[in-house]
Amino acid sequence: MSAKLSACFFSHGFSCLSNSSYKNTVDKHKNVYMRVLFLPSRQFLPAYCKMRQRNLSSNHKRQRMSKPPERIPTSAELLPIRDEESEPENSFPNGVDVEPFVNHETSGKDDVNTVIDVENIAEQNSGTLSASAGDVESTSEQIINGLVLPSVTKALAINGEQLSSMQLEDLVGMIKNAERNILVLNQARVHALEDIHKVLDEKETLQGEINILEMRLAEADARIKVASQGKIHVEFLESQLEMLRNELTDRGELELYENQKKFSNEELLSTHDDHSLNKEVDSLRTENLALKNDIQALKSMISNVKNTDERMATLENECSFLGSSVKELESKLLVSQQDSPKSSTLKVEYQELWEKVENLQQLFDTATKQADQATLVLQQNQDLRKKVYKLEKSLEEVNVLKVSSDKMQQSNELIQKKIKLLEERLQKSDQEIYSFVQLYQESLEAFQDTLNSLKEESKKRTSDALVDDMPREFWSRLLLTIDGWVLEKKISNSDAKLLRELVWKKDRCIRDAHIACKEKNEREVISTFLRLASSQASPGLYIVHIAAEMAPVAKVGGLGDVVTGLGKTLQKKGHLVEIILPKYDCMQYDGIYDLRALDVTVESYFDGKLFQNKIWVGTVEGLPVYFIEPHHPNKFFWRGQYYGEHDDFKRFSFFSRAALEFLLQAGKKPDIIHCHDWQTAFVAPLYWDLYAPKGLNSARICFTCHNFEYQGTASASELASCGLDAQELNRPDRMQDNTAHDSVNPVKGAIVFSNIVTTVSPTYAQEVRTAEGGKGLHSTLNSHSRKFMGILNGIDTDAWNPATDNFLKVQYSANDMQGKAENKAATRRNLGLSSADDQRPLVGCITRLVPQKGVHLIKHAIYRTLEMGGQFVLLGSSPVLHIQREFEGIANQFQNHEHIRLILKYDESLSHAIYAASDMFIIPSIFEPCGLTQAKA
Ligand code: ADP
Repeated sequence: MSAKLSACFFSHGFSCLSNSSYKNTVDKHKNVYMRVLFLPSRQFLPAYCKMRQRNLSSNHKRQRMSKPPERIPTSAELLPIRDEESEPENSFPNGVDVEPFVNHETSGKDDVNTVIDVENIAEQNSGTLSASAGDVESTSEQIINGLVLPSVTKALAINGEQLSSMQLEDLVGMIKNAERNILVLNQARVHALEDIHKVLDEKETLQGEINILEMRLAEADARIKVASQGKIHVEFLESQLEMLRNELTDRGELELYENQKKFSNEELLSTHDDHSLNKEVDSLRTENLALKNDIQALKSMISNVKNTDERMATLENECSFLGSSVKELESKLLVSQQDSPKSSTLKVEYQELWEKVENLQQLFDTATKQADQATLVLQQNQDLRKKVYKLEKSLEEVNVLKVSSDKMQQSNELIQKKIKLLEERLQKSDQEIYSFVQLYQESLEAFQDTLNSLKEESKKRTSDALVDDMPREFWSRLLLTIDGWVLEKKISNSDAKLLRELVWKKDRCIRDAHIACKEKNEREVISTFLRLASSQASPGLYIVHIAAEMAPVAKVGGLGDVVTGLGKTLQKKGHLVEIILPKYDCMQYDGIYDLRALDVTVESYFDGKLFQNKIWVGTVEGLPVYFIEPHHPNKFFWRGQYYGEHDDFKRFSFFSRAALEFLLQAGKKPDIIHCHDWQTAFVAPLYWDLYAPKGLNSARICFTCHNFEYQGTASASELASCGLDAQELNRPDRMQDNTAHDSVNPVKGAIVFSNIVTTVSPTYAQEVRTAEGGKGLHSTLNSHSRKFMGILNGIDTDAWNPATDNFLKVQYSANDMQGKAENKAATRRNLGLSSADDQRPLVGCITRLVPQKGVHLIKHAIYRTLEMGGQFVLLGSSPVLHIQREFEGIANQFQNHEHIRLILKYDESLSHAIYAASDMFIIPSIFEPCGLTQAKA
């Protein structure tokens, strides 16, 4: 159908031109059409049809009015591309709405004309046409019904995806076709312009002729005018003559005669006039006739000119139409080029690539040449190098001795410099060590002195119990009695030993017992002596710890561990140990056994008033503990946390005084009151200033500072709340802070007022006596060095023994480490960490998250461990809000991570599990007074 259509268009458009070249062109374009027919897209059809129609109609018009064009019409290239089985005219692929392109109304005018033209042509050429009129009609219908105007480019744009799939070649071919079309159109346009110029020339000559004719016409008109005026004059004269004749007949003969005479003269004259006039009229008439003919000729010429004008207008219309068509085609081409960027880009890329390939080829050629040259040069170079190498070798050999001696000298100098530096450093460190040793010796001596004086004191006390008022026989008999009981197996050897010692010491109690038993039988005497022996078995001290922490019920850090561990150890050694703690709401109450409130209250002073304190008792880890619950409106220990409250100074100064008040009111006579850290440092000045004078004077005060970082410094006025004389104590040699003089420093007060001051390791004791380590207290510590010493912390080996630790899944020991692997597996499971690889090391970290502990290094360690293929577990919490938040962020980040877990709380049992499970432990502290962590780990 489309083949027919195209053939029909060509026949219709050009068969009437009877030019053989057209036949060739038609054949040629048939080929073009046949080639284009294979293009997959039908979307180009309508635009081609439109072009075809326009050109066809304009060509046809031109054909009708002037000579046939010598060139091929532009539309020849723009054949419609359709296939027979085309879809309904308005339906386009990919659901594209064709409506904008099928403007029946607007296109109708043009297209109807076109159809008429086509029909005219069909009529004119019916004999030569291969297509029937029906074909033409149907073609026209198609043109009108839908294949009107959708542009190639629009279709391209719409169906960009299809386009992309089109073969580049087809697209390039199409673009070339379009370019050719434009070329042909341009040629046609030039041709049309030439025609126009010719017509214009023709028009100009005609205009000239018209002008001459018009001039002649004007002349003739003027003459006619004059002639008609003359004729009017003759007619007027004739009418007058007639009138005169009539008058003559009316008057007499004489008169008639006279008149006739007169008149005949006049008549003669007028006849003469008339005659000449008639002549003139006749000539004018002939002239007039000629003029009329001329005018007729002119009119026909003018109508010819008008026809020429019309032709010109048509030509101009055609020309402008051609121009607009060209423009349209150009814009379409532009759009098609824009809409097919891929193809153009591909084209450009292809060209660029080709250029590059060519360039590369050139480069390759030159490179090959250069390589050849380089190989040559290389060979030459190698030869040269060999020569140079040989020369160098021989030169080296010559220089070797020289160089080696130079080098030796240089390195000698360097070594000497290093030795010097090392010597200097050694000297410095020697000096440091010497000063440390001196300090240590001093403190040791001071401690020894204190210990000796304490020993002497206690000796003195015991000597008071000794008697020397009995004869030697008495003591000897007593010894013999004891020995007899041993031999008779009435008492044990150990009891006998104790009793013998009492005898040797001439102890008053054994003398008294013996005197009292004079009347009793042997059994009664033996039991009395055995009681005495058992009472002698405990030569210990009565030690009361007043502290803010105690593991595991109220523990924040190492302090809690030390209080419990030391208390238990002293207890084991036979000392009577008691602990006084605040009754916190947040304690681990399940670690307290037999907790009960005593039926007494203790009143203590604070802020000028007396406050009731409820006393609770219970045992923790086998140690007797007193818990003080102040009935103060501020609910000092009902805060949900141990430290970090705005009124910590008040809270703990209150507690310190209440603890001493309890000891006083309970009538206790401890040998040692041991206070810890700044929270209970108030005990020392309170004891000596207020409670010793009140009668609580049996004790000596021991103060242990677990970390000089925390000193509890506050405004001096705050001191008065607990009843201390702020003014008296705010002095440089008492409680005044060494850097802020309007502040008091509880730790400094404890150093000044305690009998013995200790810290958690000998090294730390030395460190804090330096300006860098003392945190402002080094001078105070140095001036009290005789009573200050470091005692290395230990751990509670009952609590931290994996062979007996009940917190662990499986117990293990150094001899059998199998249980450690099982603990690792259990902890991984418990924390949701991957257990896929047994060998993947587990890194543990249990710490308070404070800057001192190197939190930034902990963070780094988490990521580094992950990077190195390990697993990381952190157990810790922070009193510093922003640090807590930061670690919460990291914890969230690794919430479900298979290798990282952060547990941000205090958890005693989990800490045991982690210590047991970890393969490695990190303690990245900036400074560490002692560190129980490594001992536990
Ligand atoms: P410090 O006293 O400065 O906190 P130490 O290393 O002397 O440091 O003591 C800290 C102790 O507290 C360690 O034994 C550690 O196991 C324990 N610990 C710290 N944080 C926690 C926690 N979140 N849960 C359980 N134990 C903890």
